[in-house]
Amino acid sequence: MKIILAKHAGFCMGVRRAVETTLRLVESRQGSIATLGPLIHNPQILAMLEQKGVEVVTDVALVNTKTVVIRAHGVPPEQKRRLIASGAAIEDATCPRVVKVQAIIDKYQRIGYAVVIFGDRDHAEVEGLMGHAGVAGVVVNALRDLDDLQLTTPYIVVSQTTQDEGLFEEITREILRRYPEGKVFNTICDSTHKRQNEVRNMCREVDALVVVGGRNSANTKRLAEIAHSLACPVFLVETENELAVEKLKSYQKVGVTAGASTPTRVIEQVVVALEAI
Ligand code: SF4
Repeated sequence: MKIILAKHAGFCMGVRRAVETTLRLVESRQGSIATLGPLIHNPQILAMLEQKGVEVVTDVALVNTKTVVIRAHGVPPEQKRRLIASGAAIEDATCPRVVKVQAIIDKYQRIGYAVVIFGDRDHAEVEGLMGHAGVAGVVVNALRDLDDLQLTTPYIVVSQTTQDEGLFEEITREILRRYPEGKVFNTICDSTHKRQNEVRNMCREVDALVVVGGRNSANTKRLAEIAHSLACPVFLVETENELAVEKLKSYQKVGVTAGASTPTRVIEQVVVALEAI
């Protein structure tokens, strides 16, 4: 079996930065540390942080630690205000690319624009963006959502940073057809763009694709969905132990990619296990 490893597999800049920030805090031993929500969508890294004493708190009301890390997805401004009021020291690891989307929303909602956010309603990044948009914000996730969309003011469209580019283009084209007054900001991040493009190209070349990443990671699932939409057999695994060895045996050329929160070590272990098939 020939294995082709994607160039852009694994940690993106924002995730790496958040993990390194947290580990730096652990090493500096400045008292108890917590992250607001799981730092990244990867069980191995979360287990490692737990072992080092990093707690996960799910609600600002439960924060009683000395330092709280805001993860790469960011938080709604109201939540940040409550964190500050709680007296905890805040280490803001919001990814700069997410901060940029928040700033675009702040600028336009202040001057009366409606804000259409293309994203997963329940995703932490989108909850943060909606916090910035306030009552001006509305989330859409599929073309069918546009039937409920009523835009009467000038508006902007932005995207969750890890969304599918093809779908973003399709949805914005349709919104602009219905409401020509809008400004569109493609805020899908560069790392997502490269990763998704690579999957599209790889699917032309390989017989099957293995996508490595946490089951809760939306960007990992999206890579698998893109491969699936191109009729490329796809295997989504968290670790090498989940590889469907018997099925994979029938393929000559297998591609490997990984979500933005998958550590290099886990990807390497999957590649080694595939090589052994
Ligand atoms: S996917 Fe992009 S925006 Fe999201 S954390 Fe990574 S680098 Fe930042």
